[in-house]
Amino acid sequence: MMQITKLSLLLSSLLVSTAAFAGVEKIDTDVVVVGGGGTGVAAAAAAHQKGAKVILLEKLPFIGGSSAFSGGSIAAGGSKAQQRAGLTNTTPEGYAQIWLNDQKRSFPGGDKAFPNEQKVRKITNEFTKTVDWIEESIGHPYADPRPFGYGGPKYAHSPKEAPVPASGRGSSPAGGRFVIQNFKKYLNKEGVPIMTATPVTSLITNSKGDVVGVKAKKGDTEYEINAKAVVLATGGFARNKEMMKKYVPSYAPYTEVSVATMGATGDGIKMAQKVGADSYKDAWVIGLYAGAAKKSLEKTFTNKNKYKDCVFVNENGKRFVNENLPYLTDPIAAQKAVWAITDSSDAAKVLPLKEYNDPKIAVGADSWQALAKKIGVPAKNLERTMKLYNDAATSGKDSEFNKPKEHILPFTKAPFYAIRVVPQTGGTMGGVVTNDKFQVLRPDGSVIKGLYAGGETTNRPYYNRVYTSGSGLGVAYTSGRIAGENAAEEK
Ligand SMILES: Cc1cc2nc3c(=O)[nH]c(=O)nc-3n(C[C@H](O)[C@H](O)[C@H](O)COP(=O)(O)OP(=O)(O)OC[C@H]3O[C@@H](n4cnc5c(N)ncnc54)[C@H](O)[C@@H]3O)c2cc1C
Repeated sequence: MMQITKLSLLLSSLLVSTAAFAGVEKIDTDVVVVGGGGTGVAAAAAAHQKGAKVILLEKLPFIGGSSAFSGGSIAAGGSKAQQRAGLTNTTPEGYAQIWLNDQKRSFPGGDKAFPNEQKVRKITNEFTKTVDWIEESIGHPYADPRPFGYGGPKYAHSPKEAPVPASGRGSSPAGGRFVIQNFKKYLNKEGVPIMTATPVTSLITNSKGDVVGVKAKKGDTEYEINAKAVVLATGGFARNKEMMKKYVPSYAPYTEVSVATMGATGDGIKMAQKVGADSYKDAWVIGLYAGAAKKSLEKTFTNKNKYKDCVFVNENGKRFVNENLPYLTDPIAAQKAVWAITDSSDAAKVLPLKEYNDPKIAVGADSWQALAKKIGVPAKNLERTMKLYNDAATSGKDSEFNKPKEHILPFTKAPFYAIRVVPQTGGTMGGVVTNDKFQVLRPDGSVIKGLYAGGETTNRPYYNRVYTSGSGLGVAYTSGRIAGENAAEEK
C-alpha cells in the first residue's frame, strides 16, 4: 500500500488545483478511475500512457478486487508468449469458438440475445493486444502458455509465479494477485496516484447531463474530484443481496458465500443508473464452485484434482446432475438444498466431518435411513439413490447422469456423511450498457459524455449463463485498457 506521505506528494504534484474547505477537498484531474481491480488498473495505466493525468480510487484498503483472487490466467490467441513457445494453433477465432460453444451449455432461461457473438469476437481479437501490452509495457511475466481446464490449445496466460497446474485442472489460488502487483509497481513507478480506502459515492454531472467528476470519501475527508472523464471499474454485484434478489434471485440466498471481493456491491452500476445509464435487465452469475458451508470441509467431497467423487442429493434425496461438471453451480442453486454424500472409506479425509452434527453444515449416521432422517429427506429415496449409485460403481455405467466411471466410487462403509453444498459465485454478468469504446449509453442509445465502464460493470453481452475460463480477466483487462485509452482523449 502506498505510504500517505508519498501519496500526498504525488497528488500535489499531479493535480492542477486543490482547495480544501469545510472538510471537502476539491481536486482537478483528467481521468478518474473508480475501482482498483483488473479493469481499473488497466484503465489507469492506459489513460496515463496516453498522456492524461489520472487518479485511481479504491474503496477497500487494498487494490485488486476479484481480479486478485482469481487464478490470474488471461486468455488470448496468437500472443507473443505463444509465438515464443512455437504454438501455431492458438488464434483469437479459436478461443472465440470455445467461448461461444461453451455458451450452449448455459443453464436454461437466459435472454437469447446473449452472448452477442459480434462483441465476443471483437473483444477476443483485442485480448491478444492486451496480453502483449501487459507483458511488454506493464512488465508482467507469464509462465509458458498452458491449456485451460477444458484441455485443447494453450490459451492460458498465467503469471510466471503461479502457472496453471500441469494437470490443467483448476488454476493457482489467487495467482491473479501477481498481475495486480505488477500493475501496482508500474503505476507507482509512473507516479499515478492510487487512493485506497476511498469509496466513490456519486458521479457529478453538469447541466447537460455530462459526467464531470466524482464525489468520494476517505475517513472524514470528502473529495470532489473534477475530471474530463470517469471510468467505472467497480466490478459486479455478487456481494449485494438486494441486487442479487432483483437480478438473479435463485442465487440471492448464497450472496454471503460468494468468493468475489467484498467490494463487489454494484456501486458503479447504481451510480451510472442514477445519471441515466441504460442497464441490462437480464443478468446471471459467474458460477465457480460447489463449496461447503465451512471451507475446511470442501476437501471431504473432492479429490486432489478437484473432481467430485461424491454423490449430490437434493431435498428429495435424489441425484440431479453429473457431479463432475466444471463450474457446477447453476443446477445446485436450482434445488432447495443440496448435500454431498460420502462414506468412511478414507478415514483421514472425513475426519473434519466428525466435528459437526448440523444438516446446514455436515452430519454423519450409521445407516442411509438415519442419515436421511438427519437431513430431512425421504429415507426410501436416499436408499434407492445410493443403491443405484453403488450399482453404477460395480457396472461402471452411470445410466442416469453419465458420470465418468473413474469417479464413481462405491459408498458402503459406515458411518455415512452428508455435507451441505452451496453454489459459490466469483462475480456477475450484468451491468450498464456500453458501446465498443466502453462509453456508457442512455436507453435511447446516446452517449453519456465523460462516462466509461468496463469489466463486470458492463460484461452482460459476452455471456448467456455460463462462464468460460480466462474470459473474465480478458474482459476486465481489455475493457479497462480500451476505456482508459478513450477516456484520455475526452475533451
Ligand atoms: C476466486 C475467483 C477466481 C476466478 N478465476 C478466474 C480466472 O482464472 N480467469 C478469469 O478470466 N476470470 C476469473 N475470475 C473472474 C474474474 O476474476 C472477474 O470477472 C474479474 O476479475 C472482474 O474484474 P473487475 O475489474 O470487473 O472487478 P474487480 O476485480 O472485482 O475490481 C473491482 C474493484 O472496484 C472496487 N470498488 C467497488 N465499488 C467501489 C467504489 N464505490 N469506489 C471505489 N472502488 C470501488 C472493488 O473494491 C474492487 O477492488 C475469477 C473470480 C474469482 C472471484
